[in-house]
Amino acid sequence: MASPCVELSNKMKMPRLGLGTWQAPPGKVEEVVKHAIDVGYRLFDCAYFYQNENEIGNAVQQKIKEGAVKREDLFIVTKLWCTFHDKSLVKGACQKTLADLKVGYLDLYLVHWPFGFKAGEELFPTDGKGMAIPSNTDILHTWEAMEELVDAGLVKAIGVSNFNHEQIERILNKPGLKHKPANNQIECHPYLSQEKLINYCQSKGITVTAYCPLGRPDSGSDKPSLLEDPKVKEIAAKHNKSPAQVLLRFQIQRNVIVVPKSVTPQRIVENLKVFDFELTKEEMATLLSLNRNWRICEMVTCKNLKEYPFNVEY
Ligand code: NDP
Repeated sequence: MASPCVELSNKMKMPRLGLGTWQAPPGKVEEVVKHAIDVGYRLFDCAYFYQNENEIGNAVQQKIKEGAVKREDLFIVTKLWCTFHDKSLVKGACQKTLADLKVGYLDLYLVHWPFGFKAGEELFPTDGKGMAIPSNTDILHTWEAMEELVDAGLVKAIGVSNFNHEQIERILNKPGLKHKPANNQIECHPYLSQEKLINYCQSKGITVTAYCPLGRPDSGSDKPSLLEDPKVKEIAAKHNKSPAQVLLRFQIQRNVIVVPKSVTPQRIVENLKVFDFELTKEEMATLLSLNRNWRICEMVTCKNLKEYPFNVEY
């Protein structure tokens, strides 16, 4: 079963659920993506930073060649890394990603973080104290280069990731704005429910994608585990579903797109089976009440940057 879609502000249809690919190892991700396409996934969430786009591209190319899918059936999302925020570097970064993914266009290209890093080979340039070295770029200039990608036909839609509402507002208020962000991809799960930011984005016609929707269960035994949360387990048992399926369904019912990552074939299938049940109003309220503003992707080494997005409430 394929995922139903939501409509973006430019009328494109984006699947409500897709496959995350962060930490999907290059040696494995090709098989994983082929399997995901076979079982009905059409949305793939990628990033230059994940260093596996070439292998994802191999899978995409092969599945198109086999006739299993057409390019236009797929919805490929990927992200501009922080070292490419300079206006002069954006197009080249996009072209490298297109070449690796072996496609002629991207469906959605996101600015991965609201801050830029010093340009160069190093993905994560840091100073002697381990803190990120910023670029002297301005997001509004980066955005102009993103808009040019749409006009050049390299990408169908553009958006942002990890932006707070003030940073989005700045883009929306930019004089001469040509293309507004179609999507904001943010960390979101019941322990970080993001109600205010989601409401803000949706009120502006900006769709939201939830990353770490399962609370990244492999992040360490000292971390809270959403999959083990008694309330989540109780709701799952009532519906005869897994805790993971409840966490994914939670986002779908909030009109939030969701991109769980798995490299395990049966989990990939399991995670897509979330369109055949419905959480009650009370269950949704229970899940929302679990919020404790717990962030997995805090990016502590970027706290020194002036565009660090998590110092404001939302
Ligand atoms: P998730 O919350 O998706 O958790 C992934 C982990 O959950 C993996 O260890 C996976 O294991 C496990 N898992 C998957 N399905 C199940 C299941 N049904 N039951 C039990 N365990 C399961 O975390 P991610 O950080 O990967 O977030 C998802 C995606 O969001 C990323 O892959 C990436 O594409 C995107 N992302 C974007 C960010 C951004 O800055 N824009 C930041 C972080 C993530 P296994 O693979 O071994 O099956």
